[in-house]
Order: sequence, then C-alpha cells, then structure tokens
Amino acid sequence: MGKNVKQKGPAYERSFVMVKPDGVQRGLIGEVVSRFEKRGLKVVAMKMVKPSLEHIDEHYPKDEEWIGRLGDKGFNVFKEYGIDPKKLMGTDDRKEAGEMVRGWLVDYLNEAPVVAMIIEGIHAIDMVRKIAGTTLPSKAEIGTIRGDFSVDSPAAANLEKRAIKNILHASENKEEAEHEIAHWFSREEIFDDYARAEHGVMFNE
Ligand code: UDP
Ligand code: MG
Repeated sequence: MGKNVKQKGPAYERSFVMVKPDGVQRGLIGEVVSRFEKRGLKVVAMKMVKPSLEHIDEHYPKDEEWIGRLGDKGFNVFKEYGIDPKKLMGTDDRKEAGEMVRGWLVDYLNEAPVVAMIIEGIHAIDMVRKIAGTTLPSKAEIGTIRGDFSVDSPAAANLEKRAIKNILHASENKEEAEHEIAHWFSREEIFDDYARAEHGVMFNE
C-alpha cells in the first residue's frame, strides 16, 4: 500500500492536470501522462470528459487580476515583436483583452473531450508546471511538453480570435489545485492507496 499525501509530509502535493482538446485530438494523451510517470510522479485519478460550458467557466478564475494577466500575456509578446495590440485585436486595454481571451478559452475547451487527472508527488504542483513548460508554446523551452509540441503564439491566436492551443492545463499553486481537484473529481474517483513499484527504490516508500 502506498502512503497518502498527509503521511508523506509537506513536500507531497497534488496537482490537477488536463489534456486539453488539441492534446486529445493530436493523440498526445499518452505522451503527456508518460512524462509525469517517468519523472516519478503518480497518477491518482484520471477520466475523459466532455465538460459543459458552465463547468469550464467555473474551472477558470473570474477575478480582475487573473483576467488582466491573461491580457498581459499577449501584450508582452506584441511589445517584443513591435505589434500594435489595437490593430491586432481591436483594443489596447489589458482587461478588455483578457475578457476576450477568457471567452475564447472556454470555447476552446469545449471543442472536443478532455482528459482530467490528478498527479501526486514531491512538489507535484511546481514539477508538473516545469514538465508542461510556460503558457505560450512560442516561449516554452524545448524539452517541455508545450515547447516540444507547439509553436503557438498570441500574435497568431489573438488575430484569429481563438485561444492559444497549448496541449494541457496544470494548476499553478495550492489554491488553484484545491479548487480544481474538488471541481473535477469526487472523493470516490481518487485512488491514492496503491504503491508505484519503483518508488521503493526512488524514495524508500
Ligand atoms: N491563453 C490564451 N492567450 C493568452 C494567454 C493564455 O489563449 O494570451 C490561454 C492558454 O490556453 C492558457 C490559458 O489561457 O493555457 C490559461 O492561461 P494561464 O495564464 O492560466 O496559463 P497556464 O496556467 O495555462 O499556463
Ligand atoms: Mg493558469
């Protein structure tokens, strides 16, 4: 029997991960899961779902700060490449841009089924983000999932009025992880009481 997160101490965390519609449609489910598994992180829940628009809307934050940050991610790229945001997407207001991106994002996640999972392990939240790579594939390091499987950029996506297709979602911090795990999984769908064979060698489990 594996030990649960509480018995393992403060470094052990759970992260919510979702293979987004483009990842599912491109046949990258196994690739994504195997990268977490190989690093020593453990899958403790997993399912394919076609979430409702309402469910997707409740998955993402709605506060102004988060929405402004969503706008900024594109604006930073436009600044770097000398692109006028007003010409590209009709606004130079970060919050207005963020609201537009949020709407495209909800539509994107509704395009095809997604694969939702909970990944557990040492510093799981940061480790999963590291393996996923940074939000914008054009900026993501080679060797990360987003860096290896896409080149998408807001300079293309915002012009086409669509979200950045970046293969997967991963919780950014403990608060997000807690909200997302409770939003997508019931207690009965989480299976943490099995042992990974190699964890005896890796971690004295
Ligand atoms: N996104 C987008 N355009 C942007 C910034 C983000 O379409 O300019 C999408 C992208 O799919 C991203 C999601 O919005 O994964 C949520 O954004 P967040 O900043 O939370 O990035 P993440 O946590 O997914 O790296
Ligand atoms: Mg995020």
